[in-house]
This record gives sequence, structure tokens and C-alpha cells, in this order.
Amino acid sequence: MKMMAKGKIYKRAINEFGETTQLGVAQEECAELIAALSKYFRGDVDAIPKVQEEIADVEIMLEQLRMIFDRKGIDKAKKTKIQRLHFRILSREVESHERRAQAEV
Ligand SMILES: [Mg+2]
Repeated sequence: MKMMAKGKIYKRAINEFGETTQLGVAQEECAELIAALSKYFRGDVDAIPKVQEEIADVEIMLEQLRMIFDRKGIDKAKKTKIQRLHFRILSREVESHERRAQAEV
């Protein structure tokens, strides 16, 4: 059996189960990732495979959410947030550099 392209599989899942069901599955998968990360934070190193599995589940559901919601709006918000993150990193680097320069005086 030849594997269908993942975009087609996601589209068929949305058509087959419906948007509401897939939104619910997305919620559940996010909750499972939160639970797996909590175990990892508690120092359970055996939680790593579970974290990886739940990241995969969430990524699969995020790709379906991008089909359900306006992906252009998502991309626009993402671009703004990445720019903001870049600015925060650069600001911290400048502050750190200034502190070091101050300490040398
Ligand atoms: Mg899961």
C-alpha cells in the first residue's frame, strides 16, 4: 500500500471525523504533551520517549488546525512573534555586553 501524502491524510481526517472532533483531539493531544512534560520536569528521564510521542501527536494536530483555521493569519502572527523573540534575544545580548563593559571600567 502506497502512503498518501500527509496533507491529504489530514484533509481526509477532517472530512471523515469533522472539524469539531479534530479540534477536540487537538485539545487532548496538547493536554497529553503537558502531562508528559510535567513528568519530565519532575525528573523522570523515562518520560523522554513519551514527550517525543506527544510532540509528534501535537504536530500532527497543529497541521490540521492550520487547515481548519486561516493559515495566513497563523503565519502572520508567527512572523510577528518570531521577530519579537529575535528582538528580545538581541536586547539581552546588548545588555549583557554593556554589563561586561561596565565591569571592566
Ligand atoms: Mg497523544
